[in-house]
Amino acid sequence: MSTLIIHNTHILSFHEGFKKGSDAIAVHDNRIKAIGRFEEFQTLIQPNTQIINAGGKTLMPGFNDSHIHIWKVGNLKTFMLDVRAAKSLDEMLSMLEEYSKLYPDVAWITARGFNEAGWKEGKMPTREDLDKVIKDKPVYVIRTCAHIAVANTKALDLCHISASTKVPAGGEMLTNGNGQPNGIFTETALGLITPHIPAYTKAELKQMVKAARDEMYSYGITAATDPAVDPLLLEAYYEMQHANELGFRLNAMPIILPDGSDQPYPIPEKYSSDFLNVNTVKFFSDGGLSGKTSALKRHYKNSNEQGVLRLKKEQYLQLSKSAMEKGLGIATHAIGDAAIEFVIDIFKELHEFFPDHTKRIEHLGLPEEKNLIDMAEHHIAASMQSIFISELGKNFIKYLDEDYLNHCYPIKTILAHGILTALSSDAPVVRDFNPLKGAEAAITRKNNEGEIIAANESISIEEAMRAYTINAAKIGNTPQIGSIKEGQLADFILLDKDPTSIATESLTTIKVEETFVDGKSVWRREPKS
Ligand SMILES: [Zn+2]
Repeated sequence: MSTLIIHNTHILSFHEGFKKGSDAIAVHDNRIKAIGRFEEFQTLIQPNTQIINAGGKTLMPGFNDSHIHIWKVGNLKTFMLDVRAAKSLDEMLSMLEEYSKLYPDVAWITARGFNEAGWKEGKMPTREDLDKVIKDKPVYVIRTCAHIAVANTKALDLCHISASTKVPAGGEMLTNGNGQPNGIFTETALGLITPHIPAYTKAELKQMVKAARDEMYSYGITAATDPAVDPLLLEAYYEMQHANELGFRLNAMPIILPDGSDQPYPIPEKYSSDFLNVNTVKFFSDGGLSGKTSALKRHYKNSNEQGVLRLKKEQYLQLSKSAMEKGLGIATHAIGDAAIEFVIDIFKELHEFFPDHTKRIEHLGLPEEKNLIDMAEHHIAASMQSIFISELGKNFIKYLDEDYLNHCYPIKTILAHGILTALSSDAPVVRDFNPLKGAEAAITRKNNEGEIIAANESISIEEAMRAYTINAAKIGNTPQIGSIKEGQLADFILLDKDPTSIATESLTTIKVEETFVDGKSVWRREPKS
């Protein structure tokens, strides 16, 4: 018997044993029970079986965003001002001013999302800029990359920051012409400010996760990895899982080193359930390309900067070993070629002792050929963001020399090396985390201005779809999702068109019609009135 049957559907299964010609799936409770032709399913139908005629729509596994800061996506819908739409410094300043008038009781004004590369002023805001609109209240604005932030004078005063403040290793406090802090901080130096901002409560964190979830459903995302989970957020996630409130498959990756501190958090326990998995911990080895904090071997274009390497080798190796001894895998953020090489050297060492533990590199923006050979040999996986090409491509063109630019986010080459590669969004670093938009960028290699970046790294739509489903499930060690296969957890979506047989430029016109998690419909597109 079965609880749900969907028929008259075109199935994209991403499972090698899929029987061609199947047009129906049967679900019992939360698992896929059968896949085949509808006429073979008669014995599965009971009086209470829900039967849906999909009218020829495409059914595929729910998308899995293998790197998305879920609570931060939700935060920008709840407690933090979203300034990603600001097209100039002036526009961002007016948004801040308006927000502070609208919410007079907020103790700290926090905002996120500026990207000066698209601004007519062409420069980052400083504390003097922020002071022009808000003086009486601390203001903290995070750049879109989350590796750079700017604070106003009131905030610096509250944090007791002056020219003589000691800056932690792996970060910078920028200064103005007089040697005074100009309000801009990078990488670990963000830790000079963040501890002074009132922390969110667990209840607020849960509210943010729920706020993000509905947008995820609307894009057909049924599984996600949160790649930076601190102890309080981990508690919130556990509580949501126990209360059955998550509603999507979550792979939570605890961070071990808080920003600006050498004092590691305790290594968490490994945990596995249908909705929540904790099986990998996370480190950051460098920053982002769009803000010139990724660690490069050569200089950024027209600059003498080379980014920031954040980790100390010995500490990183020891903490990784301790985590692996508890059965956990290691994920490390690495974008620049210098950072990637640094991480791979550590992973090779770890591989000697822990050959089967997950080792993954987040982003992998500028790998060299020899890195990819090492990665394939030592089973190092990658979670990459093709969507950066469209949303941050303008920054790449501005900051990277030609050779770097022609080899950035080389997804095709990485796949050709046989490296397990998942695609993801890293939202809210990008605004649009629609996986179909990510797939489009992986194929066209076009930025939002229409310029093409590293054209020969274009992949196929099938490769992109697999990277957002089955590969993402593999990299997250959750084999029970990611394909349409008997016995799998019943997470799937119905699309109005088949992404694998549509022109690339039309991919984002495809609509997710309905999203199913655990065998139940959790979201449905409102019919146009
Ligand atoms: Zn990230």
